[in-house]
Amino acid sequence: MLTPMTAKVYRRPMTMTASPNEPVLREVPMHLLRPTEPGEGVITRNERCTASAKCSGFVRHIEIDVSGTPLEGRCFPGQSIGIIPDGNDDKGRPHKVRLYSLCSPSAGEDGNGRIYATTVKRTIDEHWETHRLFLGVASNYLCDLSPGDRVRISGPNGKRFVLPEDPHAHDYLFFATGTGVAPFRGMLMELIAAGFKGQITLIMGSPYASDLLYHDFFTKAAHDHPNFTYLTAISREANGPRGRMYVQDRLRADKETLLAQMAGERNLVYICGLAGMELGIFKEMALALPPETLEQYLKVEPDALGAVETWSRRMIHKEVRPTRRVMMEVYS
Ligand code: NAP
Repeated sequence: MLTPMTAKVYRRPMTMTASPNEPVLREVPMHLLRPTEPGEGVITRNERCTASAKCSGFVRHIEIDVSGTPLEGRCFPGQSIGIIPDGNDDKGRPHKVRLYSLCSPSAGEDGNGRIYATTVKRTIDEHWETHRLFLGVASNYLCDLSPGDRVRISGPNGKRFVLPEDPHAHDYLFFATGTGVAPFRGMLMELIAAGFKGQITLIMGSPYASDLLYHDFFTKAAHDHPNFTYLTAISREANGPRGRMYVQDRLRADKETLLAQMAGERNLVYICGLAGMELGIFKEMALALPPETLEQYLKVEPDALGAVETWSRRMIHKEVRPTRRVMMEVYS
């Protein structure tokens, strides 16, 4: 779940020097429906999107028909929509809006921009001290809906994590953890539909192979489109030369392929998922990339460059500054 309270969207410092080949992001509409005056969508599909039924988390692909609302045909991958759950909170106040990333291309799931989808993980937890079960309000509300049910919607939201105005001018390296893969499904579908000829690589991180999301879709897309490479990084099972893997470990495991793509002047890096993943990716980039490639993505203070292992998230945008060729959306 992406709540505005926990969302950390990185903004570019105004003073940063532009690096060559930086993208011009596409202009996208925003706030066509406000949470105070939401529209109404209709659920058309709600199904599991994990690789196997033996998954450790419950994640669902949920499609919403937005026909007749201002959202019709006006949402883009990388944006999110607002969902307002029915009912009141425990203080008796109406539930607030929650943001969910779209996983559809701009043409939607139906090709006409009427049906957009999102990827929702049920929040199921146990309170550490009281041992009481905690069920996330909005995620479980959405996951429990059936085709035909109506849902209050707002949005779209977000303009900094979208594809460039000219998507053909770049190559793409996507890093995802868990449901952070949602925007990349939509972006990949969009690029394929546009006849994209450049290189796209998705590195998808999951705790177990059974939790990989849209695995069949990505596997088939890689088979059908040789310019799309699909790599997985499983964090709690041995897979790959060094055993368990985080997404950043792919920079070593698949060094030749990934470094060649990153060295290219066209390449952009998109990072989406758990807060903290960006730090691991930046550290690994600093260790694995030659200096002339690294500086296309990160401007690092000389002192910091000599002490990569000590980097912390607080240093990002200070001693370690991503260039405009890096797009990040990470949430805790
Ligand atoms: P998940 O299934 O638990 O998978 C997360 C994976 O990332 C696990 O394999 C985890 O490994 C690994 N991981 C943990 N810390 C890491 C680190 N520092 N660096 C690299 N990998 C790391 O994920 P989830 O529950 O779906 O959570 C996804 C997150 O993405 C949520 O916080 C969600 O809010 C966010 N999200 C953001 C957007 C957006 O920005 N638009 C969209 C959708 C989702 P271990 O657990 O084994 O350590």
